[in-house]
Amino acid sequence: MNKTCLECGEKIVGREDKKFCSDGCRNAFNNKINKDSTNFMRNVNNKLRKNYRILSEINTEGKSKTTRAKLLSKGFDFDFFTNILNTKTGNTYYFLYDQGYMHLDNDFYMLVKKDI
Ligand SMILES: [Zn+2]
Repeated sequence: MNKTCLECGEKIVGREDKKFCSDGCRNAFNNKINKDSTNFMRNVNNKLRKNYRILSEINTEGKSKTTRAKLLSKGFDFDFFTNILNTKTGNTYYFLYDQGYMHLDNDFYMLVKKDI
């Protein structure tokens, strides 16, 4: 079986389980993977931080109401949150760390701050 290097495509000679032709290629390949994952994580963390900042700005009282339009106008991204809390009464809160929100009727959202 002819195997080729995952990084440069050169034919690999030697052990059957080798994936790279050289240490240099293995390092280059792994660095790329790590870079992609750290870029992705950085982007997600930035979104989470931004969402958290927006909720903290609006919800200064610890409990308040706001609208979807207001959240969106500040750049809030509803796809990113840290955890979901389903209450016994059937409500679903989405949390960004200790700041949470729950969809109310129409365009309204209830903002809450978790007591830690
Ligand atoms: Zn190579």
